[in-house]
Amino acid sequence: MTYTTLLFDLDNTLFDASSCEPDAFAYALAKGGVPESRSHWETFTGINDALWAAVVRQELTPNEVQARRFADLVEAADLEADPALLADEYVVGMGAYGELYPGARETLEQLSRRAALGLITNGLGAVVRARIDRLKLEQYFDAIVISGEVGTSKPGAEIFGLMFDALGHPEKEETLMIGDSPSSDIAGANNYGIGACWYNPERKPRPEGIRLDHEIASLDELSLLIADR
Ligand SMILES: [Mg+2]
Repeated sequence: MTYTTLLFDLDNTLFDASSCEPDAFAYALAKGGVPESRSHWETFTGINDALWAAVVRQELTPNEVQARRFADLVEAADLEADPALLADEYVVGMGAYGELYPGARETLEQLSRRAALGLITNGLGAVVRARIDRLKLEQYFDAIVISGEVGTSKPGAEIFGLMFDALGHPEKEETLMIGDSPSSDIAGANNYGIGACWYNPERKPRPEGIRLDHEIASLDELSLLIADR
């Protein structure tokens, strides 16, 4: 199968979110007058991971995560800080820090000349839009769908339907979803009936219960999966 339409996840697929989150957290705590502490970060990541898992289960929306994670942190760590201020500053920091993975921009440049590209991401609209603007990503994509803006998330079929509307309904069998998350990107592609490509640079073992059409360790392998046109 050669693909004519490629749908990309953003965080941990094109964008290195690992360095962004601790930087944004330190920025938010500094703005909120809280002395930096390793234990606060560990508490926060536990809270954040649990809340995002609830988003994947469709029990919470991304906007509810944004409101709750600092309220939960302030309570759990007994901080003297305004959770709403921390939450707002974290969003500013999340948009302001972090870079694309090495080679990701070159891959997007090349693929965007040969296929239709979509960006489909679970995240807060303000964070994702700030990253797209700062990193000048809009030029590569024919459509961008952000869960926090549309109120529905991967792996649900609805957000893929919105992407297909925006792209003018490409053939499902010629469309490939590329992402790092088995539970949102790959399960979502399986739910919607499009091809699934797992971006797995660390070569983790394949999870059970999902269908993979392709597995790649480097984004530049994608050029082999699309036809010249
Ligand atoms: Mg991801």
